[in-house]
Amino acid sequence: MALRSSLQATEFSQNNLVQQWHSNYRTGDFLSLLKQHWREYVLVAFQSFDDPAREERLTSKYLFSPLEHFLCNGEPEAVFQQLKEKDQPSQLCGHVFKNGEPTYSCRECATDPTCVLCMECFQTSVHKQHRYRMSTSGGGGYCDCGDAEAWKAGVFCGKHQPQSGEMEESKNPMELLPDDLTDRASALFMATLRYTVEMLTWEHSDRLPDNLQPDGELTDNYVCMLFNDEVHTYEQVINTLQRAVSCTHKEAVDFATTVDREGRSTVTTGSFSDCEKARNLIERDNSEIHRRYTSRHNAKALKVQVMHTAVVAHQQFALRMIQWLQNIIAQSDGLRRLFCLLSMQQQENEQSLMEILLLADTQLWKTARVQSHQLMMAGVLMDQECKKKFSIIFTKHYTNLMKAFCMDDHDHDVSIASLSVQIFTVISLCYNSLMKEFILDDHYRTVSVTKMSVQIFTVPTLARLLVAEHNLLAVILQTFLQACEEKKNKDGKLTFERAGTQTFKRACFSLHDLKYALICKPGPGEWTDDLRKSFIEGFACFLDLLKLIEGMDHVKRQTGQHLEFEPEWEGAFNLQLKLEDNIVLFLEWCGSDRQVLIEAYNRTVEVFNSCKDIDRSKKCQVSVSEWNASCIKYDVSSQPISIHLPVTRLLAGLHSFLGQHGLYFESPDCSLVRPDPAELIELPLRVEVMVAQSNANMWRRNGYALINQIFFYHNVKCRTEMYDRDILMLQIGASMADGNEFLIHLLYKFGLTAWAKEQYDIPSGQDDSLRQTVLLAEEFLNLVVIVLSERYMIGVGDVTRADIVRREVIHQLCISPLAHSELAKALPEDTNHETGLEDVVKDVANFKKVTVGKGSQGGKGKYELKPEFLSSYNPYFYHYTKTDKSKSEEAQVKRKKENNESQALPPPVPPKFQPQFAPIVNLLQCDVMIYLMELILSRAAASRSRSLSETQLERILHLIGLALHEQRRAITDGNNSFDFLSKACGQLKDGGHARKDGKCIQSLLDGIVNSHNFTHDSIRDLVTWTIKTLSEVRQMKNEPVSMETVENVSSPRDEKAKAAREKKRVAAEKRRQKIMAQMSQMQKNFIKDNAELFENTSTELFPRIDSDMDLSEADTSSFPIAVGPHRTPPGQTASLCGMCILCQEEQELTLSNRAMVLTAFIQKSTVLALTRGNALLHGEEHDPLLMRSDLRTGSHTSSCGHMMHADCWQTFFDAILARERRRPLRFRHNFSYDIEKMEFLCPLCECISNSVIPVLPAIFPSTQPSPDSSNHLHFHDWLDGIHKTVINSVKESEDFDDAEYQTCPLTTVTKQMAENVAQKFQALWSCIQDAGASAGLSSEHREMLRKFSRDAYSFGLGVDPDDDNSRVSIMVWNTCAFSIQSIEQILRDECKPLFGQMSSRQSDCLRSLVKVAAAYSPAINTDIVKQHCIRLLSFLFPDACKNKKTEQCVLDVDMFHYLVALVMSLPSLHLDTSVAPTNYLQLPSGGDNDLHTLHLVMAVHLIQILLLFDQESSGMEVDGDYEGEALLIIYNKIHSLANIQKENPPLPWQLSVHVRKAMLPFLRCSALLYHNLTGVAAPAELSETTEEYLNKEFDLLCRYLGLNFHMSRLVDNHGELMDSLITRWCKNTVLKDTLSASSQPLVQYPLRINKLISLPEDYSELINRVSAFTCPKSDGDDSRAPTMCLVCGQMLCSQSYCCQTEFEGVTVGAATEHAYKCGSGAGIFLRVRECQILLLAGRTKGCFVPPPYIDAYGETDQGLRRGNPLHLCKESYDHLQKLWMSHAIPETIAHNLESNATLLTIDWQHL
Ligand SMILES: [Zn+2]
Ligand SMILES: [Zn+2]
Ligand SMILES: [Zn+2]
Ligand SMILES: [Zn+2]
Ligand SMILES: [Zn+2]
Ligand SMILES: [Zn+2]
Ligand SMILES: [Zn+2]
Repeated sequence: MALRSSLQATEFSQNNLVQQWHSNYRTGDFLSLLKQHWREYVLVAFQSFDDPAREERLTSKYLFSPLEHFLCNGEPEAVFQQLKEKDQPSQLCGHVFKNGEPTYSCRECATDPTCVLCMECFQTSVHKQHRYRMSTSGGGGYCDCGDAEAWKAGVFCGKHQPQSGEMEESKNPMELLPDDLTDRASALFMATLRYTVEMLTWEHSDRLPDNLQPDGELTDNYVCMLFNDEVHTYEQVINTLQRAVSCTHKEAVDFATTVDREGRSTVTTGSFSDCEKARNLIERDNSEIHRRYTSRHNAKALKVQVMHTAVVAHQQFALRMIQWLQNIIAQSDGLRRLFCLLSMQQQENEQSLMEILLLADTQLWKTARVQSHQLMMAGVLMDQECKKKFSIIFTKHYTNLMKAFCMDDHDHDVSIASLSVQIFTVISLCYNSLMKEFILDDHYRTVSVTKMSVQIFTVPTLARLLVAEHNLLAVILQTFLQACEEKKNKDGKLTFERAGTQTFKRACFSLHDLKYALICKPGPGEWTDDLRKSFIEGFACFLDLLKLIEGMDHVKRQTGQHLEFEPEWEGAFNLQLKLEDNIVLFLEWCGSDRQVLIEAYNRTVEVFNSCKDIDRSKKCQVSVSEWNASCIKYDVSSQPISIHLPVTRLLAGLHSFLGQHGLYFESPDCSLVRPDPAELIELPLRVEVMVAQSNANMWRRNGYALINQIFFYHNVKCRTEMYDRDILMLQIGASMADGNEFLIHLLYKFGLTAWAKEQYDIPSGQDDSLRQTVLLAEEFLNLVVIVLSERYMIGVGDVTRADIVRREVIHQLCISPLAHSELAKALPEDTNHETGLEDVVKDVANFKKVTVGKGSQGGKGKYELKPEFLSSYNPYFYHYTKTDKSKSEEAQVKRKKENNESQALPPPVPPKFQPQFAPIVNLLQCDVMIYLMELILSRAAASRSRSLSETQLERILHLIGLALHEQRRAITDGNNSFDFLSKACGQLKDGGHARKDGKCIQSLLDGIVNSHNFTHDSIRDLVTWTIKTLSEVRQMKNEPVSMETVENVSSPRDEKAKAAREKKRVAAEKRRQKIMAQMSQMQKNFIKDNAELFENTSTELFPRIDSDMDLSEADTSSFPIAVGPHRTPPGQTASLCGMCILCQEEQELTLSNRAMVLTAFIQKSTVLALTRGNALLHGEEHDPLLMRSDLRTGSHTSSCGHMMHADCWQTFFDAILARERRRPLRFRHNFSYDIEKMEFLCPLCECISNSVIPVLPAIFPSTQPSPDSSNHLHFHDWLDGIHKTVINSVKESEDFDDAEYQTCPLTTVTKQMAENVAQKFQALWSCIQDAGASAGLSSEHREMLRKFSRDAYSFGLGVDPDDDNSRVSIMVWNTCAFSIQSIEQILRDECKPLFGQMSSRQSDCLRSLVKVAAAYSPAINTDIVKQHCIRLLSFLFPDACKNKKTEQCVLDVDMFHYLVALVMSLPSLHLDTSVAPTNYLQLPSGGDNDLHTLHLVMAVHLIQILLLFDQESSGMEVDGDYEGEALLIIYNKIHSLANIQKENPPLPWQLSVHVRKAMLPFLRCSALLYHNLTGVAAPAELSETTEEYLNKEFDLLCRYLGLNFHMSRLVDNHGELMDSLITRWCKNTVLKDTLSASSQPLVQYPLRINKLISLPEDYSELINRVSAFTCPKSDGDDSRAPTMCLVCGQMLCSQSYCCQTEFEGVTVGAATEHAYKCGSGAGIFLRVRECQILLLAGRTKGCFVPPPYIDAYGETDQGLRRGNPLHLCKESYDHLQKLWMSHAIPETIAHNLESNATLLTIDWQHL
């Protein structure tokens, strides 16, 4: 800003200014005095928007420093220090949480779950030893350490523990301030706060308040300010800005990010007309886009404002002022108290400044809000006295604040919403959308002052004060009721549309606030009349709310056709979920005071009476047999039914408390207008009947909406205040009504009056609904069982809370053993989100760790029920779903069968009813019940009954069992009023009912047990059990029982039954075996399990190539040697066979037969890289011939080992291509494989693949080496010949620093040799020609070789395919070398021997790779191979290129890659293409060429090892280590050649030990190479794992490779040429630079095996570490999804716009970008806040896998939902490590994507 830039510091004198202020502040308006100064200097300080450092400096100098000096009247530092010392040490921690910081809550001691500790306090608190919960803060909120109200115990941590004697009554801290300071501070605080409030709420954009307006005209300097809103997406804003203010995409992203983070952003600066133009453009463009894309009616424009820079400057200053004030009041408790009191002091307009700020909240932009909230938090809420005052103000304005919050539309986290929606949908796979909303709930109220309610309402004393004196409950509820107004329909009930509005969702936060206000219940002595009065007022409001819900969303049974539209139902359940805790809390409050309970009960009855739609006049007489009742007429199957009955259920809840206060339904205290029992049960009964009818398939046409409602009605989340309450109400009814009447009501509502007639069994011609009736009768009996046996509720049965949870746990575990989280999920939570599980589970169950098998997540365990609790099992447990019931029954019957016990599942003995509910048991002895029992038993006894089902029989037996239990109890208690027994035995006393046939329950039972054919043994056993129990009870009553009946029931039939069962069993076993046989046949098609499982089973399932080097066949007497003159002939290769997985045909593998291929996956890899972040990104210019020794980027090939005919595969692949290309483009990316990258899934195991490897038969010449060693060429002669060849083949051009490589004729070399040497040298190339064993490759084989090499080239380098490129063959060699090295490392890492322990997929892949690498080059283009060979050799013979500048030294090259390339290319070196047949193969054979090549390359490797050996002499001298001494000589020689002085060379033995260790990996790789190349079996000793083997491995390998195991011999005594080569290698200037440079870490041998980074043991340590991490691109801001690369440990700001970059023309997130740089496209990350592992591959694909952190129950916690403490699980981290090392990331992703379609919808590249 250019305004008055001439104004400079020369005019500024702080002393004068402060002087002036000091003398005048008392006299008048201090603010205008300040404004005089600020008018000029604010504009000076905030004139540059781009230079924060300068702004900071100027602000401090001109603006804040004078203020501080004024306040202190001296050096601020010193004065503040003095003040600080007067403060009482604070016992409150008050640490304010940053977003993402870990918080801890104690599940045993916290008053409620919102009470948390910071990490520092937690670590020194007692709660660390308790059961605690860990979580991450959403930002805001502070540590409650030291707050006595937050903790039941352990209030202080070690740090904040008060010293003894310090706890005295604290004084008013303001009294400690000096008077003059108080005066100045008061003036200053008032003035600055007033200014701040004025500026932040200033609404004019082009002028300032009077005193601040600069003299004269304002300059024409404006900005165009863009504001945040929740309508527009990030992309829309970016697009609009790019067009409207013509900025780059990057700039637009920056603007959008700022808008998102700060709530507003300057998008352009300039003159008023410029800015105005930009504003118009933005608004127009944006509304156009909006109209075009959304077609919604409210095409809203982005909010843009043109503001004068001076206004912006003052607003900036006001923001800084808030921070400054915060800092000042933190200096002293006195200042803080003073500030708070002043801020809440009423002003002229009766509002305090704090109130103005509070009410302006929604008008402010985001930063302004955040800042002012922090000021409130740091100021007001930290001081107990002020907090109280503030909370009263807050309550006073609550309604207005909530209203503003609901209507507010510019606070919405655009980026979170757009990027995270996808993530959330994935996490919540197991939940439906309803649950999702439930989960998202807590974190939603992002930046609103209403969030403050947590800080206020959860403080018990404050909440109590606000409820009692300021009517808090009514205030909150009325606010919510107002919001409900617009949702009311004409019947006065709530209705919701499908897409809920933002406004109402926000209004629902009131329900959270309500919960906070209720969470701390008053104790018995704490009730006062005020509290009662205002509580009842709140309760009345609550009833008003419930009334709106009672009967909403009613449904009617569809009979004709299906419903056309699924009705909306989620809204109501959502509300129910949010209300649930409140209902529970209201009930608990009511239950704690007799007076309140009576008042609440009466009011509820009143509302119940007013809102029930029961028409009293519509009653009808119903009779069952000889009994009658007057029932309410209502047909559930044709009239409307609502599942929402909160008023009725609340009444039931209140009723259960009556007994505790000595009250009962008819108490004179209770309401006068009492509903009768029939009315009480009517509505819940209708719901039960509807559910029963739905179970009987009568509501099928009502669709999923009804099914979902019924599901949630019973679900653990809702049932406590829905289903359970309905049952309770039925029990209340049953306890008050006459038993006969009650049963008749039920029968009538179920529509079973006809069924209950004896004649019903006689066919009458109309059988349509018979099946339905049978099912309904079963449901009816089920309900009666539940009403009688569900007594586990406080107030109903004689039980404790622990009993209730224990019973739930027992019944869950009767289904199957469960993991801790599964068990916890099945239990209802209380209002503190606790289930009470931990308190009881140990009593009833044993925790058994699952044994760690292969691939299992280590340590996960399950709870198993202790056997002594099995008898508590009740199959009719009312929280069982249908599946739970049948599963548990099955499990229990199976267990009993195995134990040879009776299979009956009799009712367990229920606890006693509380006196109030005791009359319910009379149901069991009432006439209708006895009648029904006899009715069903007689139907069972009848030979053919049409209306009986075994289920009915089972249930009636259960009821009889219950009756017997009650009878036993009555006898024990001496209670004579319960007399089931005489009725059951037909002993009628006073003219009761009797059957016409004179039979009674007992005689009927006896009849059944001997006559009936039961399909299940368990029912027969139950009948037996019933008869036995009946006799036992009779014996108890001293009635004579013929022992016969007891004993008889289980003998003769048993034998017969046993025989029959045995017969059945045999038949079943036969059938099973047959099925098994079929299964194994079909198994081939079924192997879709994880690859690992498959890997281990594949060998048995499929005929594979018999290993052509089977270990067992090898001749053990002579040690096999693979290379050199003494090499062993390859094993006699039997004909090899392979089976095509596509056509299932088996065939021999020969060159003349059809070609076969293995699936393959080729990928770039940095897994072996020894330096990070250097991954090869652009392969176009890269020369891959010499692999760098740090293995930066290699090419890895893997295979699942499945074989196909080449043509079968081609047909298969073409079909995929055709299918995918036909698909519309927009669907195409939705696959687990990318067809554009030639990917496909293995047709058998669905392993991801992108190529095929041809499987070549044993085509290698089996030339027998001549036994006469004199025929062999010596190393030095060979070296000489190669040297001569190279010298003659490199033609250096004069003017370029380049050379031409053209192999010279063989004669040129042999001419220069002695004759016998020349002959032998020539023979190296000719002897192979003589062999003639290979007939050449078929064209099909060639085609497949070409296909593989094309892919190896293009995937290995990341370039487009190009068959003519000379690098193709190199890439084939490289992928072979790299894959061998990779497998060697895996084996080494697992301490496995080289041979015999590889998986078959690994060995198949290697075998084919090596053969292909050997066969490809000569088969395709010999000339290019010759060139490569010369180029390779010229690296080791530097004298061949005298002019060329040396760029690499021997330390720079990986010698194993070099070896593979040289071995593969050397046979072609002198091949005369004019002589050899065109399809002739020139292959390495393990002869002299190979031996000498190996020798040469190893010599170089030895020099690498010695040069890099970095240890100085240590330890004892050991005499006689000749090898070590020889090595030392070499060591000294090469170091002096390299001109590097080692002062203290290592000892000989150190050298020889080191060389053996360092050389070993190379030897192991070479052995794998030659083994696969020559087919010479590996010595059996190399597949041993013994200790001894590990010591001998080096020697064994040397022997197998035909080498001397003295490594010094590699370089010693091989003539002048060798010596001169060594000299040249070591004198290389590059080498000296490399060794002396300290910048780059040198590669060390043996090559290090890479590991994933090490992780801390305790997960919270990670969270804490991450909370300090900020986005690297937007300075100092939080990162929303901090993500850690597990390969290199780098932290990334993932899933966020700020850190997106362009990569290969696509916008990608930080993780994807990093995956490319660090892992060549594949990445493994830990998302720290979510606690999940992210795998990425190939830019568009990814998946989440479980983290390596587990809780005490061995379970992971993705998303940190449960909050149990998490610790590192070594096994599962090892598992991840192995996954990464074995290059299985792409494969794992593909498998995950394939099995979980929702993962495909995630934009992985944005992570
Ligand atoms: Zn703390
Ligand atoms: Zn503390
Ligand atoms: Zn604790
Ligand atoms: Zn085939
Ligand atoms: Zn496969
Ligand atoms: Zn970022
Ligand atoms: Zn990394």
